[in-house]
Amino acid sequence: MTKVLIVGGGPAGMASGLALTQAGADVEIVEASADWRPGGIGLALQSAPQRATKSLGIHEDLVHVGRRHDVIDMCAADGTPIAQMPQLNVNTPEDPPLLGMTREAVHDVMVSAVERARIAVRLGTTVEDMVTSEDHADVALSDGTHVAVDYVIGADGAHSALRQRLFPDAAEPAYAGQSIWRAAAVCPPGLDRYTMMLDGPIRLGLVPLPDGRLYLWMLDSGIGAARPPREDLLRLFHERLARFGGFAPAVASQLTDTDQVDFRALTWLLMAPPWHAGRTLLIGDAVHTTTPHISYGAGLAIEDAVVLGELAASGLAFPELAEKLAARRFERARAVVETSLQLSQWEQPPGPPEPAAPGRLIGQTLAFLAQPL
Ligand SMILES: Cc1cc2nc3c(=O)[nH]c(=O)nc-3n(C[C@H](O)[C@H](O)[C@H](O)COP(=O)(O)OP(=O)(O)OC[C@H]3O[C@@H](n4cnc5c(N)ncnc54)[C@H](O)[C@@H]3O)c2cc1C
Repeated sequence: MTKVLIVGGGPAGMASGLALTQAGADVEIVEASADWRPGGIGLALQSAPQRATKSLGIHEDLVHVGRRHDVIDMCAADGTPIAQMPQLNVNTPEDPPLLGMTREAVHDVMVSAVERARIAVRLGTTVEDMVTSEDHADVALSDGTHVAVDYVIGADGAHSALRQRLFPDAAEPAYAGQSIWRAAAVCPPGLDRYTMMLDGPIRLGLVPLPDGRLYLWMLDSGIGAARPPREDLLRLFHERLARFGGFAPAVASQLTDTDQVDFRALTWLLMAPPWHAGRTLLIGDAVHTTTPHISYGAGLAIEDAVVLGELAASGLAFPELAEKLAARRFERARAVVETSLQLSQWEQPPGPPEPAAPGRLIGQTLAFLAQPL
């Protein structure tokens, strides 16, 4: 039985665990965090990666904890509706085109599936050292133990320590020129649809979630990468929110504590293959970190895992498996990262070449991503 160590228990790591277990491998996950809770607030899953979650057997559970969005309402800053953006559906009409969930709910669904698959998970544990030979990797873990495996999957996220170890000259994620504010709130009565509003350098998204909850995100091209001092955070957040009408004031009035507001700079990374060195293959954000403009980063990570499982099930062994994985995945990763970065740049001065350019690019990219994996 092929033995695999997965480093990182985020979407890429957990999905890889499920896919490789289905392919008959003996899998263990090590996760650095001791309490293993997800960062962030909300997550939208596009239709094509939902297809990937079907093959992992978790789609129904995700739909159960998610809210379906068939269209996005595009509004002026005062809340006046301008247009509706129908969301692409590559699955059956019963399936949600876009699925809005809390990060916690996605995490819980994936953890339950990992438990059902009886995948061992060591929390608060990471890789200390690794010695690779012709046919296996001997990995020293931070809990003082050693494991010998056929190969290692590096799913340790955008600031991957394994990437730094294996590819010391590889670029780190770069600032995209925008930052994002995020908050959770109660959904105001009457707000039934995913709503976006644009005002100059600020774009606001209000995403209704199940159980009367709401996920707010606000892209900001005017503030820079540095996190404002804590004492200024709430004031700066409200100054920006005050530009918007419609449902925005009803949401803003709930956000009165600095701890309710999350701020971070947006970064991107696209690593050209190879994605493997020695007997370790990197996947997910470790090799392709995207800005969230088409809500596809976790989707890419889950798709990576499904392709990995398919290749493993076909009997491919390392390093051919790693070469094929990167070859199959690079163009999709490039489409997501480059499109998202272009959209980010068009939200910064001097703006897009023409008003219709962003919508057209999104349509083209999602049509490309609708193709089978
Ligand atoms: C603002 C924002 C909004 C987003 N919105 C969406 C969205 O709506 N839809 C979408 O599809 N995507 C979205 N994304 C992208 C998505 O969050 C990521 O692409 C996704 O989480 C990547 O999964 P991953 O498993 O590769 O990495 P991560 O989620 O970063 O998981 C990595 C895991 O590895 C662990 N780890 C780190 N280092 C080590 C180590 N050395 N040893 C062991 N474990 C380690 C971490 O604790 C973590 O659990 C968004 C991203 C951002 C920044």
